[in-house]
Amino acid sequence: MFTLHASGVGGGIAIGRARVLHRPGQEIPEYALEPGRVDSEVARLREAFARARAALEKIRGELPDDVPEEVAPFLGIQLMILEDRAMLENPAEIIRERRINAEAALDRHAANLDKFFREMRDPYLSGKSADVAQVIQRVQGELLEEAGAPAADGAGLPGDAAAGEIIVADDLTPADAVELKRRRISAFITNLGGPISHTAILARGMRIPAIVGMRGATRWLRSGDLLVIDGRRGVALVNPDAPALAAYERRREKILRRAQELDSLRDAEAVTLDGEEVSLLVNIELPEEAAECAAQNARGVGLYRTEFLFMNREGMPGEDEQFEIYADVLARARRPVTIRTLDLGGDKRARGGHAAASPALGRRAIRLSLHDVGMFKPQLRAIYRASALGPARIMAPMVTNMEELNQLFALLAEVRLELGRDGCDFNPHTPVGGMIEVPAAAVAADLFAHKLDFLSIGTNDLIQYTLAIDRVDDEVNYLYDPLHPSVLRLIKNTIDAGKNAGIPVSMCGEMAGDSAYTRILLGMGLREFSMDPASLLEVKRQIRLSDAAKLGRPVAEMLRTPDPERLRQMAADLNR
Ligand code: PEP
Ligand code: MG
Repeated sequence: MFTLHASGVGGGIAIGRARVLHRPGQEIPEYALEPGRVDSEVARLREAFARARAALEKIRGELPDDVPEEVAPFLGIQLMILEDRAMLENPAEIIRERRINAEAALDRHAANLDKFFREMRDPYLSGKSADVAQVIQRVQGELLEEAGAPAADGAGLPGDAAAGEIIVADDLTPADAVELKRRRISAFITNLGGPISHTAILARGMRIPAIVGMRGATRWLRSGDLLVIDGRRGVALVNPDAPALAAYERRREKILRRAQELDSLRDAEAVTLDGEEVSLLVNIELPEEAAECAAQNARGVGLYRTEFLFMNREGMPGEDEQFEIYADVLARARRPVTIRTLDLGGDKRARGGHAAASPALGRRAIRLSLHDVGMFKPQLRAIYRASALGPARIMAPMVTNMEELNQLFALLAEVRLELGRDGCDFNPHTPVGGMIEVPAAAVAADLFAHKLDFLSIGTNDLIQYTLAIDRVDDEVNYLYDPLHPSVLRLIKNTIDAGKNAGIPVSMCGEMAGDSAYTRILLGMGLREFSMDPASLLEVKRQIRLSDAAKLGRPVAEMLRTPDPERLRQMAADLNR
């Protein structure tokens, strides 16, 4: 038994067998062979060579007529390399000598060859080293695929990943995360990623415990290992002994009991001790999650992330398909739904979408939508059409300057005109709001507040951009800090701006769903919180135990405190 630690996601505990995914270009696992396994490992290597050869032969035999003529000789060279006795015998010798697995032996063989080619200093011969490396990767791919890895394009989960398994991968995209839920995977671990990446947010919403940024996980863990994942503490127990397993089973029970206790608050009002009413709303990513709104007795959906409709599929959903879906979400929620327009780009890409040089700073969200009106307009039309069926609100992500708002308003006016001409029903007074998640918008929140019907603070991006930390980069996770004075001041500034302009301000970033911050936000005057449904009752509990009138003064003091240690102490005292 051993334990691994990194950033935890979600409050739960999962127990299950690991399924390690190896994708091209990632770390190759290395492990010692059990005694007596050397000959069978050499045979495994030989069979992988044979399969790689057969695959290449097949490709060469089925080449279409129109491929460039150098392709066939190129494949011929790779086949010759594969057939070279030394290519098989040298790694086989490494397996015998070092008693390690075939994939790792190939890795060491590749490193030896690479060194040799580099020392030759002959441009023609060193050019051939790329062929050798590709051949070795092909054989490694055969070995890894046999061990349960996905197809060679590296996309998606393996077809037979089963319910209850714990996925261990280099990284998972938000699109993969949606797939995890469909397959009822019980938890996941990734080498990379941060706790407020969209993948992590999805996991939290889907109540899938996870650990992210666990460097080396795919190297240390093997498919079939028994794992305990503690999402709250970010701990993975690997092959636990019976007492440890029993202790975690007891903890899992306790967490379940706690959730059942919180259930008694479902129908209770979200009101502070001194009678201040607070609106609690839910964030959703998938249409079926809208039912959580009624299930948690929330006031509505404060953030519907529509970009997930555009992932895991070929092509874009058209206007009619989107209309059906938004209508369905409104029907399931039975309360107001804030439909956020596409926030594609960054770490959320539709199939075929291009990767920007700096994704978080690139053409993302409203920038992408205004750039691609052909994609954006059907969404706006669909939202307006759905507004005839229930209380919808339109929310634009990542607004940064007034020109964007002006363009958006012009487009909305155009859409209303066209819908009127087409004889479609819609609510022309559908509220239009904006997310405040770029520091520029938070600093000038008063200017934005005068143009919009409501504001919603997206702390995930606001913190990312204010503190200059990429939210998906595990190397700078430790800098993620909702209590940074600049972040707190930007939040306060936005809440005040909304109040002065007489429009509602909510918060829909992860900070709103963390009960450790509830009192600070109440003290700043926030009265609308939108969060993943799993966090709602815990936040409601904290609200019901808080005296809002007594929070203003200590929170104002926190905003002026220069000492981070003192600030943390004050935050802890506030929660006592
Ligand atoms: C945010 O940035 O806080 C937010 C709610 O939006 P997303 O996490 O989808 O970027
Ligand atoms: Mg955001």
